[in-house]
Amino acid sequence: MEKHIGSCICGDVEFSFEGDPMNSIFCYCKECQALTGSDKWFGLWVPKNSFKLTKGTSSSYTRTGDSGKKVIYHFCTSCSSVLCAEVTAGNFYSVSATSLKNNIFTPKMSIYASSAPSWAIFPSDVPKFDILPPRMGG
Ligand SMILES: [Zn+2]
Ligand SMILES: [Zn+2]
Repeated sequence: MEKHIGSCICGDVEFSFEGDPMNSIFCYCKECQALTGSDKWFGLWVPKNSFKLTKGTSSSYTRTGDSGKKVIYHFCTSCSSVLCAEVTAGNFYSVSATSLKNNIFTPKMSIYASSAPSWAIFPSDVPKFDILPPRMGG
């Protein structure tokens, strides 16, 4: 399986995962906007057992997601880059695609579009959902 490698800006923390993500999303929820300082987060959904931190130690911040279950963000204490969010409701990590050294993935859907700012930019060729697609409770 192909191995994908990423890191924070300063390089203190590195991670990797193997194989293709289950999904790749642009998330326009309020939290992702605040987190990224932009209109969206580009997340690759990677099963928990395929993802590992390979260098350094991340810090974490936990919030309660829409599902009532925890979402745990892992970030570098030195440079504050967010590396991934652990979505406990789905047992996967939403890995920051923009932290990969060589990102080959493109978004497959836009989610939480109803929370997007008026100036948000949506890719024209992928499905767009107000919150989450049906049967994908996150
Ligand atoms: Zn760093
Ligand atoms: Zn989001």
